[in-house]
Amino acid sequence: MFKVDFCLAVAIFLIVDFLVVISFWVFYTYHNDSETDLQNSKYFRQCPYCCVVFFDYQKQALCACPQCKSLIDHNDLL
Ligand SMILES: [Zn+2]
Repeated sequence: MFKVDFCLAVAIFLIVDFLVVISFWVFYTYHNDSETDLQNSKYFRQCPYCCVVFFDYQKQALCACPQCKSLIDHNDLL
């Protein structure tokens, strides 16, 4: 049987924690829902006056900028 001193215990603890974090990162990297990001990206709008980026889920002719409250035509959106 081998002796476990303090340095070896800390090293084993850090290695196990590192492997757990890496395994969670790999799991969520390959199982994330990237289609949701692509679906939301078509709703990105940028105000031509104050350059704030916001989501516009409404299909109206005019939308209001949430920051400067300007009414923006969809043709003026960047
Ligand atoms: Zn604005």
